[in-house]
Amino acid sequence: MSPSSSPSALSPSASVPPAPASSARVAAAVRQAVATGLLGESSPVAGFIDTDGVRASVAALHEAFPGVPSVLHTFAAKASSLVPVLRLLARCGMGCEVASPGELRLALDAGFAPSKIVLDSPAKTRDEIRRALAVGVAINADNLDEVDRIASLRPSDAVSAIGLRVNPQVGGGSIGAMSTATATSKFGVALRDPGARERVVKAFAAHPWLTRLHAHVGSQGCSLELIAAGIGETYRLAEEINAALGRRQITGLDIGGGLPVNFADDEVRPSFAAYAAALRAAVPGLFDGRYELVTEFGRSLLAKNGFIGALVEYTKDAGGRRIALTHAGAQTATRTVFMPEAWPLRVGAFDAEGRPKDGPALVQDVAGPCCFAGDVVAHARELPELRAGDYVVLYDTGAYYFSTPWSYNSLPRPAVYGFDVAERAGQEEPAVRFAPVRDAQTLDSVSAESGLAHADALLALRD
Ligand SMILES: *Cc1c(COP(=O)(O)O)cnc(C)c1O
Repeated sequence: MSPSSSPSALSPSASVPPAPASSARVAAAVRQAVATGLLGESSPVAGFIDTDGVRASVAALHEAFPGVPSVLHTFAAKASSLVPVLRLLARCGMGCEVASPGELRLALDAGFAPSKIVLDSPAKTRDEIRRALAVGVAINADNLDEVDRIASLRPSDAVSAIGLRVNPQVGGGSIGAMSTATATSKFGVALRDPGARERVVKAFAAHPWLTRLHAHVGSQGCSLELIAAGIGETYRLAEEINAALGRRQITGLDIGGGLPVNFADDEVRPSFAAYAAALRAAVPGLFDGRYELVTEFGRSLLAKNGFIGALVEYTKDAGGRRIALTHAGAQTATRTVFMPEAWPLRVGAFDAEGRPKDGPALVQDVAGPCCFAGDVVAHARELPELRAGDYVVLYDTGAYYFSTPWSYNSLPRPAVYGFDVAERAGQEEPAVRFAPVRDAQTLDSVSAESGLAHADALLALRD
C-alpha cells in the first residue's frame, strides 16, 4: 500500500470505533510503514499521526463540557503546526489558537473561520494587529501597552473580539519553562502587582470593546488544582470589573489550556472530564452561561496520537554501555534531549520487519544522529537488544516533536504521515492506511533555506 494522495482520503467515518492511540495501533502502523517503505533505509525517520485517535481526543474534549451554552474549544497551533492536521481539527469542530503571523497564516490556510481563531502572540507588531483586525480574528492583548496599540489601530467597525491576558500569579508547576503563572512570568498583566488590578479596571472602563479576559496558567507539570485556581482568579476579576462598570462588558473568558500529558504509559491521564470536573468544583459560575468560554489545548489533544519511528543504523559498546545509533535525536525530540528529566519518552523496540521485539532486557542508550555528545533520547533504558536494521519508536510524540523539528546539522525535516486502522474480518493484521501530511525535506530545500540564493553575497562586501 502506498500513501494515498490527499489527507481527505482518510474518511471521517473510519470503521474503527474511536479509541485513543494505543501501543497496539502503533504496532500495526509501524509494521505497515516498514512493509511499504515509509520507514526504511532511504527514509530512516518519520512522524506518524493516528487520525482516529485525534478524532477521539477531540470528541472527549467536547463531551467534557456538556450543556455549557457557549464554548469554543481551540487547538494551540504550535503543538502541531501542520496544515493537514489543523484542517482535520477544523473538520472535527475545533477552533484555533495562534501565536504568530505564521500560525495565523496556517490556521487560515487550514480553513478555520476567522471567528474561530484567537491570536495570542506575546509580542504583536503593529502590522500583525492590523492584519488580525482586518481578518476579524479574536485578539488577546498581552499587556496594557498593547491594549493602547490596538485602540489606536482598531477601526470603529472592527468585528474582532478583543481580550486582555492576565497572569493570576498562582504559582508554577514542576517545569519552570512551562509555568506561565509565576510571579515573574513574561505573559499577561501580573494581577497581584501593586496597582495592577486598578489599571486593568481602568482599561476596561476606557475601552468598551474590550470584552474578554484571558489566562493560561501552564500545562505540563501543572496540577489541575493550580490550573483551576488560576481560572478562578480570572473569573473573579471579570465579575469585579463588570460590577465596577455597572454593565456586563466582559462577555467572554478565554480560560487557556494546557493539560498535562501522561508520558509513562497508554493511559490518558488526566482526562478532559477530570479537568472539567475540577473547574466545576472550583469555579461553578463559569458554566452557567453568563460567559462565552474559549479553551486552548495543544499537547493533550495530540501527544498520545502520534509517534516517531526511526531506523537503528548501528550499535556499539562504549565504556560498558550499549548504544543504539538511530535517526531520532535532537532534531525531532529537542526537548527530551536537552531536558531528559522533564521530558522522558517511552521507547519501543521493533525488528527489521517492524514487529515488536521481545527477548531479555538490555540496558541501552538510544542516541540520535546529531553531532553533539548529548544527543541521546533515552539514557540507560532497559529494552530488548537493539541491532542495526531494527527500528525504535518514540511514543506520545504527536505534539511538539516531529511537527516542530530543529534544523541542527542541516538535518532534513522528517516526513509526517497520518494513518487510520481498520480490523479486517478473518485476518490477523488490521488494515492500516496512510496519508501524507508533510514530505521529507529535500537536500535542495535544505540548501535553499541555508541562503543558496545569496551564495555570493558576502564576497561582494569587500570586493
Ligand atoms: C501553548 C499554549 C497553549 C497550549 O498549551 P499545551 O500545553 O500545548 O496544551 C494554550 N494557550 C496558550 C496561550 C499557549 O501559549
